[in-house]
Amino acid sequence: MHVKCTLCDHVEGIEDYSLEAKRLRNRRINLYLCKSCNDRIGEKTNKRHSTGKFQLYKNKQKDNSEFI
Ligand SMILES: [Zn+2]
Repeated sequence: MHVKCTLCDHVEGIEDYSLEAKRLRNRRINLYLCKSCNDRIGEKTNKRHSTGKFQLYKNKQKDNSEFI
């Protein structure tokens, strides 16, 4: 079974009887992300999460120092 990545149009072959193929067939979702796009998105999400945490922490520290 061939699936096309929704983001970069990269075509990947996946096993017909793999879980992923089953999922794509059953749910009829047209959204498939190739490995590199998956990694990229995962990285972005992680980065956003870590910067969010970092900013929260930084703001907290700043608030404290201003308070003192
Ligand atoms: Zn892709």
